[in-house]
Amino acid sequence: MADADVIIVGFRCAGAPLAKALQAAGVRVVAIDKSPLFSDQPISTHAIQPYGMKMFDRLGLGDTVRALAPPNKAFRFQVEDSHLQITLNGTTMDSRSPRRCKLDPALQQAAIDAGVEVSDETRVIALLRDGDRVCGVRVSRSGVESEIRAPLVVGADGRNSTIAKLVDAPTYLESSSVNGVYWSYFEKTPVFDQDPRYDWGACIHIEGDVARAVFLTDSNLLLMAGGAHRDQLQGWKRDPTEGLLSHLKNGSLTAPLLEGSQMVAKPVGLVSPKFFMKQAIGPGWALVGDSGLHIDPTPGLGISDAVRDAADLSDAIIDGSEKAMRLYWRRRDAESIGLYHFAGEMGSPEYNNPFTRIAFKHAQKSPAMQQRMDWMMTREIRPQDMMPPSRVLAWLAAESLHGNFAPWTAMPRAARLRSVIDRQQKVLDRALTRAETGDLDMAVPNLAN
Ligand SMILES: Cc1cc2nc3c(=O)[nH]c(=O)nc-3n(C[C@H](O)[C@H](O)[C@H](O)COP(=O)(O)OP(=O)(O)OC[C@H]3O[C@@H](n4cnc5c(N)ncnc54)[C@H](O)[C@@H]3O)c2cc1C
Repeated sequence: MADADVIIVGFRCAGAPLAKALQAAGVRVVAIDKSPLFSDQPISTHAIQPYGMKMFDRLGLGDTVRALAPPNKAFRFQVEDSHLQITLNGTTMDSRSPRRCKLDPALQQAAIDAGVEVSDETRVIALLRDGDRVCGVRVSRSGVESEIRAPLVVGADGRNSTIAKLVDAPTYLESSSVNGVYWSYFEKTPVFDQDPRYDWGACIHIEGDVARAVFLTDSNLLLMAGGAHRDQLQGWKRDPTEGLLSHLKNGSLTAPLLEGSQMVAKPVGLVSPKFFMKQAIGPGWALVGDSGLHIDPTPGLGISDAVRDAADLSDAIIDGSEKAMRLYWRRRDAESIGLYHFAGEMGSPEYNNPFTRIAFKHAQKSPAMQQRMDWMMTREIRPQDMMPPSRVLAWLAAESLHGNFAPWTAMPRAARLRSVIDRQQKVLDRALTRAETGDLDMAVPNLAN
């Protein structure tokens, strides 16, 4: 006898919106999380992209998120002195950065209000199986073990997913970063509101071989983050406050924001994270959010992707067909592969190279490129299609005419990466097309180079 139609393990950005959507559609959900209800997710910054806000709207959660933090005027990516940004003020697009201690409880409360049954401080330790199908979970709460049964178990349990491990979900794309990032919260001072240099709300700034980010968050606070190669972060573990403060003091955008401001929380951070794409469905199980797809956090895409996948998976579960479940998996992959590499590039030490610098410089001056940036951020075009080759050649030619040949040195690496992305995109697009025509194959895509 089943206790629910669906068990969702992990009750945050992916699990809570999925639980709400399913319960509202009449699917009986039990959500389980090992952490207590309404708690923080400290190992995550929290800039929500315009696309993510659109996904929250799709699930009826947009206003819940909007109530938590002010809007960003723009979302900016800056390399040295040049930037590309999506301007949001006066448009229908929205972006916010509420702290996870605000965001997660609000999403959880919305799911509970929809009638979701939640078991918090409850850890999944094993799966129940009926033949090769997963049919429930074994959990431990305060040292007492019990079983919960349902025909579908969803792992929404984050990048170190227990469910992905227990079902042995195949991983077909993997990478890691040599960088790390630490962040904390600071009182917002008038300079942020009044100085035109800060006419955005969220900015990721790469200077030399280090990165810094500033996000306007809730409660009149700014999140400020510092990223660098892990070797440079050795001392930060011992004294993260000193490490982060001195890093931010050296940043052209962050230094003025420290003046007259107090750091209000101890910095936290993460070094050398690993990224992956895993099979998203199997007999009696599915993965959603970071458990199945975890990408470099540098451009801040994870929450948006988690909510997109929660919306798509809820549609598939409500549809109830094998075809719909495959479409969920294959669509996630085809939509994410370009973003996976774009994020990995932004987070790599090679990103700030002579070509990136001229690309930002020229693109910043071009209304057409500005438009393409908007399309990329709203996911109407893929990141790999953001810079048309004819433009790239024109920029290289213009720089060469002025005696600057350095950008050419970055082109072989860029071409190699482009060919990897194109090939992998083709493989995943083909798998999606097969799923659209009703092919129920479960073949793991071959993305090897
Ligand atoms: C350093 C860093 C910075 C980031 N910055 C951003 C950003 O600015 N913008 C952005 O959009 N994204 C960002 N991300 C990504 C974002 O944090 C994730 O994409 C997002 O948290 C994924 O949500 P999730 O619900 O899948 O997983 P999580 O938020 O990790 O939640 C998983 C839940 O599962 C529970 N769980 C785990 N195992 C079990 C178990 N065995 N039993 C029961 N419960 C379990 C955990 O307690 C947890 O509550 C960042 C990530 C990192 C690492």
